[in-house]
Amino acid sequence: MSNVDPLELEKFNQLAHRWWDPTSEFKPLHDINPLRLDYIDRVAALEGKTVLDVGCGGGILAESMAVRGAAVTGIDLGDKAIRVAKLHLLETGNRVEYLKAAVEDVAGERPGSFDVVTCMELLEHVPDPASTVRACAQLAKPGGHLFFSTINRNPKSYLFAVIGAEYVLNLLPRGTHDYAKFLKPSELGRMAREAGLTVADLIGMTYNPVTRIYSLGPDTSVNYLMACRAT
Ligand code: SAH
Repeated sequence: MSNVDPLELEKFNQLAHRWWDPTSEFKPLHDINPLRLDYIDRVAALEGKTVLDVGCGGGILAESMAVRGAAVTGIDLGDKAIRVAKLHLLETGNRVEYLKAAVEDVAGERPGSFDVVTCMELLEHVPDPASTVRACAQLAKPGGHLFFSTINRNPKSYLFAVIGAEYVLNLLPRGTHDYAKFLKPSELGRMAREAGLTVADLIGMTYNPVTRIYSLGPDTSVNYLMACRAT
């Protein structure tokens, strides 16, 4: 289990009790969740599907996919995140299988078992994102859908995702994101193809600081989501 940065995990552990507080540091994830959920559901038709959510955190996306009728497994290496995710199921009565596990290990144990694999806002926190993408690819069934979201790397994304979000708007704690770990869509696309996936769609996620509204659209210059298919 080497594809993990302990400092990154600790950052999330410190905040883990606030995963389900929609006004907390996790507010941006709560705010974008309906958008990404609708997108995933539209592309992959979640009802009745088996889904693996990699780096699930407290389960914001995982639980919402379960509500749409998917059989969801959520994995994360954060101890507290997994505990919080499990506790939240007691409140809502939703059903999700949560495991504290590395995606590379699960890929060895359950290859080719999921109709859908989601990996949101994780790649910019791991030392070797290509390894994560490869493991996700191994976990998908042939023809399965994969969704990756992360942050683009260019002067605008530095300004918006680091300076804007962490220093001006205080949407995220300072130090949440390391610019050097951001990935251009072309780089993520190459990782996906090298893992045997085809890139099916690329869509941007934008935030308007005036209206405070998030939307999906063609602007992939800061946050984006890539949809892939397993072959
Ligand atoms: N995917 C969720 C949470 C994103 S936050 C969402 O979009 O709502 C990033 C998550 O990645 C945190 O829960 C953190 O614990 C987890 N994480 C960080 N490094 C990891 C690693 N190497 N393997 C698995 N999870 C990791």
